[in-house]
This record gives sequence, structure tokens and C-alpha cells, in this order.
Amino acid sequence: MRRRILLLLLIFSLLLGGCASVRTERSVTFFAMDTYMTLRIYDGDSALMNDAQALVTDMERRVSVTDEGSEIAHLNRSGKARLSPETKALLERALTLCKETAGALDITVYPLVRAWGFTTNRQHVPEEETIRALLPAVGYAGVVLDGDTAILPKGAAIDLGAVAKGYLGDRLAALLRERGVSSALLDLGGNIQTVGKKPDGTPWHIAVRAPQGDGNLGVVDVEDEAVVTSGGYERFFTGEDGTVYWHILDPATGYPARSGVISATVVGKDGARCDALATALFVLGAERATAFWRQHKDFEMLLLTEDGELLITPQLSERFTPNGEAGYRLQVIDRVKD
Ligand code: AMP
Ligand code: MG
Repeated sequence: MRRRILLLLLIFSLLLGGCASVRTERSVTFFAMDTYMTLRIYDGDSALMNDAQALVTDMERRVSVTDEGSEIAHLNRSGKARLSPETKALLERALTLCKETAGALDITVYPLVRAWGFTTNRQHVPEEETIRALLPAVGYAGVVLDGDTAILPKGAAIDLGAVAKGYLGDRLAALLRERGVSSALLDLGGNIQTVGKKPDGTPWHIAVRAPQGDGNLGVVDVEDEAVVTSGGYERFFTGEDGTVYWHILDPATGYPARSGVISATVVGKDGARCDALATALFVLGAERATAFWRQHKDFEMLLLTEDGELLITPQLSERFTPNGEAGYRLQVIDRVKD
């Protein structure tokens, strides 16, 4: 009898063990921050799915520039506002990244983004005079954080859009890890954040979108990392003169950045920094972006130039599968030949 019970117990525990290795996948797609987001989470319960989505909605509600009720919209209207700890943390982070990129990323470029109509979908080329008049108010260094109060210089306004999704990816990943999740793929509108590896233990394969058409430039293998791309193709309009104007502006000129780079992808552990750098490297162009990378070497990048060259950092090239159809010349930066 005892042996029978033991045998039954053994079978039961084997069955349980078997069940544990079957991973439950939950996924949710919703519209937030002006884009479709999909959270795919393994072995999370429905309460966690709700909490993750609530984190997104909460962040959007706090920082959206177009939502009149957000903390950032309020700050932009009044020039001075008390911020919640969440918003303050993001603003602080964004300012540090503006400084690190020496203003290629500049959150105070917002009055110009607005003048070009990118946030209102009334895109048009502003008068030269308008741009000249708005430029003096651009300068992240003028933003003051005094305790939990943010103060903007006269005429200045900020937009955290170039870092918010990356930062959100970090926050979501932290929430999931805290709740025991070891595998998740968070697609925040092309801004990818991964947690751990795929449920089968292999790296995530993330396709990098090609600027033209529906294809991709290739696939990068990542784990516990973010993959963020900035490209002119995300939001643009064609002017009456046939010129394409996109939403990433050069804070130095107030015009869409024409650096020769048409798509910049950054891969790394820190999602907020990847997001910030993708935007900044797009503004800087291949030469200055490469110099920036050589100085830091703590992130990986992939830059597509308008001449059809795809520049890739050496470490990333080891885990990048090029798309042969994409028609670029792949060049590894500073490859050490042995
Ligand atoms: P991203 O898609 O992350 O490259 O961010 C682009 C968005 O950030 C734009 O839609 C603008 O709202 C804003 N933006 C444009 N140019 C800059 C810039 N140089 N620095 C900071 N934010 C910018
Ligand atoms: Mg960005």
C-alpha cells in the first residue's frame, strides 16, 4: 500500500514538473503614446498583464504633450510646475541624456516640433522667420529642477517623446522581473524591450525595420536588452516642393535632421538610453555617431545611410543576420582583423 502511494506521488510530481515546463503565453495589444503596443509575457497572470498596461496608461497620462491634463502639458503652459516622482525621474533622466549627447537630443526642441505640426498632424513647412524666432528658446541646459518643481525658461516647452518609450520599456521590464517573469517581449511601437530569453532558452530574434517598404534590414539576437530604431519614415510629410520632411529635428537648426543617416538602431541594456541615443545618432550622422560610439563603447548600433551603407558595431555584427534582399553594403566599424 505504502509503495503504491509513493508511486502515485512520484507520478503526480512528474506530471506537475511536466506542466511547469509548459509556458503560458499572454499577450495584449493596445493603442497608447500614439502607437500600437504589444506586450507578450510568459508565465505572468492576468493581474500582471493589467498592471503592466496600467503602467503604460499612467505614464502616458503624466507625460503626453498633447493631453492637456498631463503634468508636462501643464508645465509647458505655465512654465513652472510641481511634478510627481514618476515624471520627475523621467525628466531628470532625459536631461542627463541631452547632456550626454551634447544637445543632439534636446527635449526643449518642442516649440519647433509644434511649429512643424508634427504633434497636431497639421504638418507644414513653417516660415523661416518662425523658426528663427523659436530657436533661441531651445536649450535643455535652461531647464531647472528645484526639488520636485520644474521651471522652464521663457518661451521654452518640452517633449519627452524621444525617450519616454525607452524609459517605459525599462520600467515595464523591472515590474515583470520583480513579479518573477523571466521571458517577455515588449513591443512599444517599434521600440522593443526584451526580458530574458525566449521561453525555449534561445535569444530573441528582433527584426530591424527597413526605412522603405515592409521589409527589414536584418535580425539581431538579444536577451534582456532593448532594440530601438529612429527613422525618418516613422512620421513625415512631403512638402509642396516634393521634399520629404520628417519628425526628428536638428535642435541646432530647427529643421528636420539631414545628417545622411536615414535609420539609427541602438541595442543595449538601458532602454531609455537606447531610445535617446537612437534619436541623437540620427541627428549626428554617421561620422559623429561613430566618434560618439568610440568614446563610449557601451552600446551597440546599426546606422543606415542614404548612400546605402549599413554601419554596424563589431560586437553586434556577431549577432546580426543581414537581410540579403535589403540591398545595402554592410560595413563593420573598426573591425579588428586577426
Ligand atoms: P524618436 O522617435 O525616439 O526618435 O523621437 C522623435 C520624437 O521626439 C519626435 O516626434 C519629436 O516629438 C521629438 N524630437 C524630434 N527631434 C528631437 C530631438 N532632436 N531631440 C529630442 N526630441 C526630439
Ligand atoms: Mg528616441
